[in-house]
Amino acid sequence: MKLLVGSLNDDCIILPFWQKEENAPDFKYKNFDLRALQASKDFKGNEGEVLFIYPEKGPKRLLLLGLGKKEEITPERYRRAYAAATKAANSKKIKTLTLIDYNKAIAEGIALANYAFDTYKTDKRSLVEAIAFLKAGPKILAEFEQVFTVFEGVYAARNMINLNADDMSPTHLAAFAEKLSAPHIKVYIHDKIWLKKKGLNLLLAVGKGSHIDPLLIVIEYRGDVKSKENTMVVGKGVTYDTGGLNLKTEMGDMKCDMAGAAAALGLIVAAKGVKLKKNITVIIPTTENAISSTSYKQGDVYTSYLGKTIEIDNTDAEGRLILADALAWGNKEYKPTCIIDIATLTGGVVVAFAEEVTGLMSNNEAFSKKIQEASERTFERVWPLPLYDEFKDLLKSDIADIKNCGNKGASSIKGGIFLKEFIGETPWVHLDIAGTAYLDAEKRYLPKGATGVGVRLLMDFLENE
Ligand SMILES: [Zn+2]
Repeated sequence: MKLLVGSLNDDCIILPFWQKEENAPDFKYKNFDLRALQASKDFKGNEGEVLFIYPEKGPKRLLLLGLGKKEEITPERYRRAYAAATKAANSKKIKTLTLIDYNKAIAEGIALANYAFDTYKTDKRSLVEAIAFLKAGPKILAEFEQVFTVFEGVYAARNMINLNADDMSPTHLAAFAEKLSAPHIKVYIHDKIWLKKKGLNLLLAVGKGSHIDPLLIVIEYRGDVKSKENTMVVGKGVTYDTGGLNLKTEMGDMKCDMAGAAAALGLIVAAKGVKLKKNITVIIPTTENAISSTSYKQGDVYTSYLGKTIEIDNTDAEGRLILADALAWGNKEYKPTCIIDIATLTGGVVVAFAEEVTGLMSNNEAFSKKIQEASERTFERVWPLPLYDEFKDLLKSDIADIKNCGNKGASSIKGGIFLKEFIGETPWVHLDIAGTAYLDAEKRYLPKGATGVGVRLLMDFLENE
């Protein structure tokens, strides 16, 4: 996004108005006298209400934008209103929006809505390319710059998820990661031979059915070499999930099963862009869960990296398997201060929270609280689910230490309980984004398909930690 100095002769000036109880808003701004419109009551200033008018003098268009009631305004309401303005501008192919009001949420609202996935479309949709400011100091400009830089990470995540599964295989994810290399960003791609040598047998098992080899991608982002703090982010990278031999009946959206990996990579794009002074270690176990004569089988037992044996109760509960090996290996190798894993893990979280809220599970109250605070600030909302020890009974196995799926009920919690076995005492948060990562239909400022959820949440957590 280009940031420009605006003028009263610009293409499209956004004029925000509060909704008033009695009379219509006070429609007067600079030389623009809009009292006739006021009399007509055609525009009330409701949240997200948009009206274009075409004055004889001055700008080509005025975009009147309703903000709702002044006393009810929140950052989220700003986001929604300015997202509505951005969508309206995109429908008119407007390339530059001129602002007279500025705050971080306004920048976020514009950025959230200003996205289209057109890689496979012949006719590309029009997007806003520049923001012009009628009056803005360096602090405002820096804030907008920061927001749009973070959104490079969000868009990167959305694009990775929306691409064909064959255009975003484990090999492609690795290539994307490698491009992030810099003097302070080291990237390692560990192949099948390395996985065998180290004993990441669960990741190898899930990958058995695919002609594409599984990989473990590691990124060491070192923004603050003086600090010993190190946040480990583990993202699930199943680039297509058929369910394996426990074949899914519906798999139209299953290219999105690497949304956790995309969020982790998007986080590094954003951190690199804003030169975040934090240490992050990203670990991505990535594979396809494919169906073939070589696929891993229900009823078989595999030994995890940590040594615990796992009975495969359902080949479609593959995410927790690859995460278990990645979490255990990363925890031992890097001894991080805290661990966040992010994964499209269970359909159960969609039953509980639809596409609105990410399921959060944790072994540490204080750490969990910090993630919840970041979620309130970004409106990438999370809600905690309990990991009581009693739930462990659901994963009891007669032939191995633990099952990967087990008895009916509490499907999201079972995922969390399983992963907890591989964490030890390190403060940890598990984010189940199966509902929030990929939408069936456009919603508010979020597009249909990939949302890029997680990038803003984790950036906000790291920035405010
Ligand atoms: Zn699955």
